[in-house]
Amino acid sequence: MLNIVIFGAPGSGKGTQSEFLIEKYELAHISTGDVLRAERDSGSELGKLAESYMSKGQLIPDELMVDILASVYDQKTQKGETKGVIFDGFPRTIPQGEALAEMLEERGQKIAAVVSLDVKEEELITRLINRGKESGRSDDNYETIKARLDVYYNQTSPLKEKYEKEGKLYQIEGLGTKDQIFARISEVIDKVK
Ligand code: ATP
Ligand code: MG
Repeated sequence: MLNIVIFGAPGSGKGTQSEFLIEKYELAHISTGDVLRAERDSGSELGKLAESYMSKGQLIPDELMVDILASVYDQKTQKGETKGVIFDGFPRTIPQGEALAEMLEERGQKIAAVVSLDVKEEELITRLINRGKESGRSDDNYETIKARLDVYYNQTSPLKEKYEKEGKLYQIEGLGTKDQIFARISEVIDKVK
């Protein structure tokens, strides 16, 4: 199976590019943000807990997130119909990165590539503010965007170094049209698949 991590700051275009990828390469999409928002909308206790972190721009604790991820992964790959999986929004911390490698290894799998979308901070803020006007997402407001970017730079971006060392990191210029960016990503996927 082709296991791809799509990586980048909030607003870098992970969700948009994932949609193109699942279509072209027939992959399953695991967006942890979408999983948590669905959980919240269901009104479950887990969902309430998740929302208390999300609305502040903070991360859900690693242990909880790792359990959720493993169960969603098994659910999506169970039927054996998918050619692979895109991880969108996971891992977001070094411990999550280690847990992901372990989880995949236990299943005889590994990460083929980590595609990192590079977008400068100014552009990220503009995109997220604009998205907030339509998304109604509780975390797409200026104050929470700032908190999410801090979390990204402090806790998430160190993962790049880990994947760089493993020879799995592919940095993609995240500015341009959606099609242009997708063409850059496709080049990487065609190489590793
Ligand atoms: P993008 O705009 O590129 O889709 P994002 O950061 O805006 O990225 P999501 O990936 O949807 O948005 O995540 C929203 C929130 O969900 C995060 O701010 C965090 O609170 C929570 N979350 C999502 N994934 C994780 C994770 N792996 N670990 C901890 N919390 C997470
Ligand atoms: Mg997203």
